[in-house]
Amino acid sequence: MSRFAADYFDGQTSRTHPVRAAVEAGQLHVQGESIEFAFPLDRIHVAPPAGQARGVVHLPDARELHSADHAALLELSRLTSSAHPERWAHLLESRLRYALAALVVAVLIVFVGLRWGVPVLAEGVAHTLPASLENRLGKESLSLMESIYLSPSALPAARQHGLAQQLDRLCKAQGCPAHRLYFRASRALGANAFALPGGTVVVTDQLVKLAQHDQEVLAVIAHELGHVERRHSLRLALQSIGAGVLLVAITGDIGSFSDLAAGLPSLLLQSGYSRDMEREADGYALRWLNAACIPPRRFADILNRLNKTTPDAVGLLSSHPGTADRISPFLAPGPCP
Ligand SMILES: [Zn+2]
Repeated sequence: MSRFAADYFDGQTSRTHPVRAAVEAGQLHVQGESIEFAFPLDRIHVAPPAGQARGVVHLPDARELHSADHAALLELSRLTSSAHPERWAHLLESRLRYALAALVVAVLIVFVGLRWGVPVLAEGVAHTLPASLENRLGKESLSLMESIYLSPSALPAARQHGLAQQLDRLCKAQGCPAHRLYFRASRALGANAFALPGGTVVVTDQLVKLAQHDQEVLAVIAHELGHVERRHSLRLALQSIGAGVLLVAITGDIGSFSDLAAGLPSLLLQSGYSRDMEREADGYALRWLNAACIPPRRFADILNRLNKTTPDAVGLLSSHPGTADRISPFLAPGPCP
């Protein structure tokens, strides 16, 4: 680099010494009247000139060079920076740390949003969607399930009718959410029952056969009515579209409606409801059974039998870990004589 003119301050006095400086062999050489010294570049720091002000070269022992040669100082600044590779590493490292921290925060926000935000949003949307849309979703999911998992019930019509009538009678006496009860055979699902959006409740022939008492079937239906009451399957479907539920919340429009209907059966069968949803449905069933004067243990009985016959059953009655916890509230005697 070229030589540049500067004023030298020795760090002791305020006296100005005019000098000339230049970089040679990795050192800054300074020369003036009875002044001659050199410092390695990694021991000096350049404060680049700002505007019209003179730039300052900081030397060891509080010594300084002041110069108005902006071009020379800029070049010196470049040379000293490359003489401090560890500074760059430090800078990069601290930026990387910030970047990683920002990434972690972003991931956390998305996680919290999906884990807690989406379910809350889905619940809100589920309660504002028009009933007609919910019914349509239920119908489409049912016909899809019928084409894959379900076949017409082989139960005698009188048996189906008898169970439906008992349910109607109880619902008239104590109120139930709007629902439609269907009996279907299913080799794939075995003894099972499930609720679809719009109040469609399906009970399999195998479940009716597994029951040793009609009240056991009614207890399972009561649990499914709990899912209907709280719109769990609609919420599950809405949750599956993740952040898309935000769009539904804003526009009230389900763009990918048929995707929603198509995805629901496998959602129900594979991931199932959350534990909280099951707990809500169980709570509903317990209150419902008590109001109907059906011993709550009917539910415990059929759930236990189901666990014994098909321990790894898929789907809606398959209990998550903690079956014993789930069943215990039903073991206490109900309020009825
Ligand atoms: Zn359930």
